[in-house]
Amino acid sequence: MKVAVDQGRCVGAGMCAMTAGEVFEQQEADGLVALRMTEPPEHLRDHVEEAEQLCPSRAITVAPTAP
Ligand code: SF4
Repeated sequence: MKVAVDQGRCVGAGMCAMTAGEVFEQQEADGLVALRMTEPPEHLRDHVEEAEQLCPSRAITVAPTAP
């Protein structure tokens, strides 16, 4: 799976970092989302998809990795 974030949409709510801290973090300077990795391992899928759904500004996109 591939994960992308749009910092232009992020409002710094922090739901992603609380839900899947292995993948998402908030930048110290402005609180906006930053990715720790762009292709998380499959065992993190549930958390990543939950973060995608919880994000209030729809700033997270999860796509399957191309074969
Ligand atoms: S949950 Fe969404 S709005 Fe909140 S920090 Fe993460 S990407 Fe930004």
